[in-house]
Amino acid sequence: MKIVYSDKHAAHDPQTFFVRGVKQRSTEQPERATRLLAAATSADHEVVAPRTYGTAPAATIHTPEYLDFLRTIARDWATLPNASAEVVPNVHPARYPATYPKALAGRAGWHQVDLACPIGPGTWDAALAASELATTAADMVLEGAHVAYALCRPPGHHAYADMAGGFCFLNNTAIAAQRLRGRHQRVAILDVDVHHGNGTQGIFWERSDVLTVSIHADPSNYYPYFWGHAHETGSGKGEGFNLNLPQPLGSADAPWLAAGDTALARIKDFAPTALVVALGLDASESDPLQGLKVTGPGFHAMGQKIASLGLPTVLVQEGGYLSDDLGRNLVQFLGGFG
Ligand SMILES: [Zn+2]
Repeated sequence: MKIVYSDKHAAHDPQTFFVRGVKQRSTEQPERATRLLAAATSADHEVVAPRTYGTAPAATIHTPEYLDFLRTIARDWATLPNASAEVVPNVHPARYPATYPKALAGRAGWHQVDLACPIGPGTWDAALAASELATTAADMVLEGAHVAYALCRPPGHHAYADMAGGFCFLNNTAIAAQRLRGRHQRVAILDVDVHHGNGTQGIFWERSDVLTVSIHADPSNYYPYFWGHAHETGSGKGEGFNLNLPQPLGSADAPWLAAGDTALARIKDFAPTALVVALGLDASESDPLQGLKVTGPGFHAMGQKIASLGLPTVLVQEGGYLSDDLGRNLVQFLGGFG
């Protein structure tokens, strides 16, 4: 399989992450990508360089105001007196009607939904490069490749059209799906990350041309808490085109793969002509975030199931954090495609 990769991700090395109120270094570290790359290379997958697109693909999903914010905020923030090295909001507009502010702290609160998406000097370049990886993989599939894998970092599936969150800034999965829509009338997205793909759900919430399906740990006691519940099915034209399959915390291979069967049945019913997989590997039993307990053979079986659809497929890396199994699980999953 062709692996689209660039080392530009390393410019983003977030230091801010809060766990039960305690600040620590983010688990979303550059070493994730280097380990995934090493594992894929050792399994004889072929690494290819991304193409250059600039912001055009990202602009098919994200608002101009948000892209401007991501591009400029770290530079502007650094001019504030006693500013931190990373942009972290300390105020949010929350759930009530609000006005877009001019102040940098206010804009940060508007566009960064939580404290897990700090923006440093290299964040924009890395996020933009990740969107170009996803776009390159989508174009390879449009040009005839059966499957291509974008080794994106930072991940993207928690990012909305105008809001970062949960380590994510640009929604690489959504950008790839929209790219495929250029030539495919119906595109499905299957998200197997342990966290609900809330940004992706939000982006396509009112659309019937992109089906969004997510298998994840039950958000009633797991990030992203506010989204990912089974009753969230889309609205307007999109009603019925979003399927959430939350799993009890700690679920192992059998229920996870059964949810995969349910997801694939819905996807077949939708009859897409292309697929994007939001490939989080953090459902692993070895992942430090400990949401589900999927094994290496479980990832392999899920890869096989998805490959059995026979659809042109773009794989987009989402979560999956440092453990001895991280690279092995990627190889297991990719191996499912034969
Ligand atoms: Zn995740």
